[in-house]
Amino acid sequence: MQIIDTKAQLEAILGKYKKDGKSLGFVPTMGALHAGHISLINSSKKTTDITICSIFVNPTQFNDKNDLDLYPRMPEKDAEMLKNTGCDVLFMPLVDEIYIGENGFEGFEGQKRFKGAEAFHFEGLDKVLEGKHRPGHFNGVAQVVSILLDIVKPNKAFFGEKDFQQLLIIKELRRQLKLNIEIVGCPTLREKDELAMSSRNMLLSSEEREAASLLPKLMAEAKTLKEKGKSVNEISGYFKDRLKNNTLYKLDYFAICDSENLTELTAFDKNIKSIALVACFVGKIRLIDNIFLD
Ligand code: AMP
Repeated sequence: MQIIDTKAQLEAILGKYKKDGKSLGFVPTMGALHAGHISLINSSKKTTDITICSIFVNPTQFNDKNDLDLYPRMPEKDAEMLKNTGCDVLFMPLVDEIYIGENGFEGFEGQKRFKGAEAFHFEGLDKVLEGKHRPGHFNGVAQVVSILLDIVKPNKAFFGEKDFQQLLIIKELRRQLKLNIEIVGCPTLREKDELAMSSRNMLLSSEEREAASLLPKLMAEAKTLKEKGKSVNEISGYFKDRLKNNTLYKLDYFAICDSENLTELTAFDKNIKSIALVACFVGKIRLIDNIFLD
């Protein structure tokens, strides 16, 4: 596996692969890798010739400096995992390598930290759920993903359904920028107790980690309630009540939405594929998850 930290070097290496007619698969991550990330690498390896993974903790998508500072970083361990999986190229740039020129670094102060960070509009998709609770987050995501896709120019890019709203945003970004890149959504990998794997899980204390098991359990119950014919309101009410009693939890949102566009549903409709999405704090750690209800 080649480990690269400059854009020029990466472009040179990938240029050679492209010249040889190789197809490129790209998996952008923020590191602290787990089996969920590795499943994306494996999907890429199965369907493309060369797999590139990036590890870049993108400051523009954090709206809380503390969250950015706390974000786990373990580049050596990550590189070892990627090597063992058969990833071909690991791109690990520094912030200044990504945010240069038009996107120049302006320091971390509030929302407008980087030139161009506010440039994207997603017709409301970026204003609900995560977008509402983390203002500026999806602009930061779109900014870094558009920069990385422009450097790598892959045939396919792989994203997890774990970050379902992000996946829809990236698909919309592809449409807006008219990118000739296939965006592939990959299923969420889960721990033994069904908690969605996340780099943030390692920040939970043992008590919080135990309490976090309730989250996937309630998501599964939401699906069962839907199957039993309960209404949107009844399911939301049940979910919120169950969390209210647990002092370790603080709910940001629980919403049942149209999975095409994340419009919140007030009633189920057999023509609409519904999805339940949740974000909550367990202690100080913010977790997200989702489940298709149909
Ligand atoms: P992150 O490093 O958290 O930015 O995630 C990088 C990519 O891995 C994103 O496309 C995520 O959606 C995806 N991902 C994160 N957790 C999981 C998981 N548990 N299962 C599958 N994909 C995941």
